[in-house]
Amino acid sequence: MKKLFLTFLLFQSLLFADSRTIYDIRGNSWLLDANMTLFLGNWRTATVTPIQHGNYKNVIVNGDTDVKSVALTFDDAPDENNTYKLLDILKEHNVKAAFFMIGGTMEDDNITVTKQTYAQGHLVLNHSYNHPRMTNLAQSDMSLQLTRTSQKIESITGQYPTLFRPPYGSINATVVDTINEHNMTTVLWSLDSLDWTLQDPEAVIQNVTSNVRNGDIILMHRNRVSVAALPKIIENLKEKGYTFVKLDGMLGVKAYRFFDTLSY
Ligand code: ZN
Repeated sequence: MKKLFLTFLLFQSLLFADSRTIYDIRGNSWLLDANMTLFLGNWRTATVTPIQHGNYKNVIVNGDTDVKSVALTFDDAPDENNTYKLLDILKEHNVKAAFFMIGGTMEDDNITVTKQTYAQGHLVLNHSYNHPRMTNLAQSDMSLQLTRTSQKIESITGQYPTLFRPPYGSINATVVDTINEHNMTTVLWSLDSLDWTLQDPEAVIQNVTSNVRNGDIILMHRNRVSVAALPKIIENLKEKGYTFVKLDGMLGVKAYRFFDTLSY
């Protein structure tokens, strides 16, 4: 009996081995000074350690570490300029990505680019309504950030996104609980391109191509530095043998609310 139990434990540990590893967040740049590097390192450890210890439910950092694939994610779209440029580059290289969008910016011309992003096969996902630190909000306001944005996206694309990326990656137990209560999944990243330093595309290319690992979720933004860096990043990672996959496929989750017609 004991032997059987041990065999069971061994089987379980094999089953849930490396593919479920939660990475430390990577990404560095010669543009960051020592203080900023230290600050960022501390933030990453403080954010990821509770996830690695299983304290937060349903918070994603990376995909399957056994598979040589990566997922590109772009935050802070839509806008009337750089989002279009990113779409053109992705189309040219036949890569599908995830766009975590800000609900409050989806007005006028930005509705068109949001529609186009979805029509070109990319994921249009939730990045809050007006980009607050969720940890500073009352729970009712957290809920509004989630629902208003997903409803807005649904009104434009017809799909209600259930993947949410908190602005600044700022989470705590209450934020995560609230996201889960809305049947949504929190998606962070495992490789920060550091394009938000907004200076040198070469620094971004060097950072991403030297730090990449199997199953990385790569954080980028709809800014001019990522527009400049993206073609070389795609070419270099393809040369290294990485496949670009869509976030939902990588994670084996649904990106949008699924209405089961049988239940009506
Ligand atoms: Zn953002």
